[in-house]
Amino acid sequence: MTQKTPAYGARAAKVSLASMTIERRDPGPRDVEIEILYCGICHSDVHKVNDDWGTTHFPVVPGHEIVGRIVSRGAKASRFHEDDLVGVGCIVDSCRACSECRAGREMFCEKGVTFTFDSLEQDKQTWTYGGYSANVVVDERYVLRIPKGLDLARAAPLMCAGITTYSPLRQFGCKRGDHVAVVGLGGLGHMVVRLAASMGAEVAVLSTSRDKEKDAARLGAKRFAATREPGALETFEGAFDLIVDTVSAPHDLNKQLTLLRNFGTLVLVGLPPAATPLDAGVLIRGNKRIAGSNIGGIPETQEMLDYCGKHGIVADVEVIKANQINDAYARMERGDVRYRFAIDGASFGA
Ligand code: NAP
Ligand code: ZN
Ligand code: ZN
Repeated sequence: MTQKTPAYGARAAKVSLASMTIERRDPGPRDVEIEILYCGICHSDVHKVNDDWGTTHFPVVPGHEIVGRIVSRGAKASRFHEDDLVGVGCIVDSCRACSECRAGREMFCEKGVTFTFDSLEQDKQTWTYGGYSANVVVDERYVLRIPKGLDLARAAPLMCAGITTYSPLRQFGCKRGDHVAVVGLGGLGHMVVRLAASMGAEVAVLSTSRDKEKDAARLGAKRFAATREPGALETFEGAFDLIVDTVSAPHDLNKQLTLLRNFGTLVLVGLPPAATPLDAGVLIRGNKRIAGSNIGGIPETQEMLDYCGKHGIVADVEVIKANQINDAYARMERGDVRYRFAIDGASFGA
């Protein structure tokens, strides 16, 4: 059995998103049904709607930064109660048995992970629809607890921007006194600043937008460079232990590599639609490393949420209604977001 749910989605590549009705399954024995209170807008949603990666199956209903309230649960679902405040991030199912699933790295499930939207369910037939909708039905294994005290609209972006930045900071051992740079001060970038600063790092923001300098300082950065200004990066040559690159558009990586110390790491989390040339010499001189990082698994996402609860870390959001999503996309493509849009879930049925 299914139920009809109001949603917002795109029927084809690069067309405006529009109101639509989708089918959600009735909760199975281990499912919970969540009334969506807020859903963040990630730049991956924009890439998917534009079919930037050539992988989108239309119609697509984006959204993987969901915070909501449990409204019902299946007979065997026991982890949550009605009215609990919960989150759903990028992953809603996986095989649960392979070595990656058992290690809590469900995004690398050997049988194929089910992402929250534009992905096949484990039956390999049904497409998933994301959080730009009034409710969602998810197996409780993939549902996260939102720590008490966090503002819900501001907690929604933790579900992707939070885990995608927390995970590489942990993987590459970010610690007190480290020099960390973030490239691109958007949804992911502003989370890098808050998280790395909370871990004791000295953070620098490398941004194309000079007018973000004050915000960078408010978020916890000690230094700032406006990267399009001539000579802006000269003082940063060899300065950083770790650079986290969150940029959504193609850009030069070789210049960034010169800013690393010997044995330093450039970790890419931004996923531009086109490849970028890499100069081996820049890596070899100084034993520099380049890495990628893909969201994070369910246990690490809960760890990140608990960490943010303890340290009071949330995103800066601008709350919008469903009918403002297309404007928000246009603004994100211009780099004009401070620093995440969060859609009010009540506006989907309105
Ligand atoms: P966002 O909020 O739009 O921020 C991206 C920032 O990149 C912009 O604010 C801008 O910052 C900078 N930028 C944009 N165009 C640029 C250009 N042409 N040259 C240099 N800088 C530019 O996006 P987001 O939601 O943070 O996502 C960023 C990227 O991460 C996207 O590609 C997204 O798909 C990807 N992503 C990856 C993962 C993963 O698992 N690895 C997870 C989520 C998202 P300044 O104004 O400061 O320059
Ligand atoms: Zn995302
Ligand atoms: Zn698996």
